[in-house]
Amino acid sequence: MFVPMKTILDHAVQNQYACIAACGVDMEMVRGLIAAADRKQAPLIILMGGMQMERMGNPELMIPLIKTLAAATPSPIAVCLDHGKDFAKVGYAVRNGFSSVMIDGSTLPMEQNIAITRQVVAFCHPLEVSVEGELGHVGQAATGDGRETAFYTAPEDAAAFVQATGVDCLAVAVGTAHGKYPAGYLPRLDFDRIRAIKEATGGVPLALHGSSGSGDENIRRAVAAGINKINVATDLLEASKNGVANALRSAREADYITVMQQGEFACGKLLEHWLELSGSCGRAPQIPCSSRIERLQPAFDSQARGE
Ligand SMILES: [Zn+2]
Repeated sequence: MFVPMKTILDHAVQNQYACIAACGVDMEMVRGLIAAADRKQAPLIILMGGMQMERMGNPELMIPLIKTLAAATPSPIAVCLDHGKDFAKVGYAVRNGFSSVMIDGSTLPMEQNIAITRQVVAFCHPLEVSVEGELGHVGQAATGDGRETAFYTAPEDAAAFVQATGVDCLAVAVGTAHGKYPAGYLPRLDFDRIRAIKEATGGVPLALHGSSGSGDENIRRAVAAGINKINVATDLLEASKNGVANALRSAREADYITVMQQGEFACGKLLEHWLELSGSCGRAPQIPCSSRIERLQPAFDSQARGE
């Protein structure tokens, strides 16, 4: 079923686990991801960022596809705009049916970050669209940003930010970074900081960005410390690519459908591992789904069936 991500994240906070937020750029990835969430009875957030929408999966195509797949599984499925940089991007996402958005004002001074995030919350909440903000700054692995403690989220600032904006979820900078870490490098995560932010904010759902390549033990400990949303992009894109590459290597004459299916299966297989790490397997039946977005879905279905 199709839901706002607040439905999933509030349950994750109450029951101390995390939901995976997985990048899905095309039909094969999204199908592989939702099938894996269905197999594992796990909730799932699909991430779509601005660049991927421009280069490949535009929302006019992807959102109806995701809603159709979501309607076919009892697992709660949300779609979140990843790193929306301005109000125009948020409006574009909401107009196209996203159930959640992230407004990333993390490179702005805190006052400006609060101002734009508040504006987005005021626009989205009446539509039952969930909002994620970011405080501190999760940078790029390639430039070593994860080690830059000046970027880290300060617990007292996080408390003020959540209070002033009313966000449903907060992305925090605690040692991870986007993209690929150098070979053999594992980030050091500041678990005490996660715990302090959680306490200072009164238990707001916390998002970990740049989770790919961070190591299973780090992810498990981050969830135990209070992370409720784990963003995974790089590892899933890599798995999909390798699935296609392996299919081509093992049988050059393989047909297009077989090759692309191997990408889809590889993506779903890797997601299963992340779902296990996050503690979200088997949670779907326990999540109360009472939002307007979810209620519209069965009505739409019965209409389509002519009931
Ligand atoms: Zn991110």
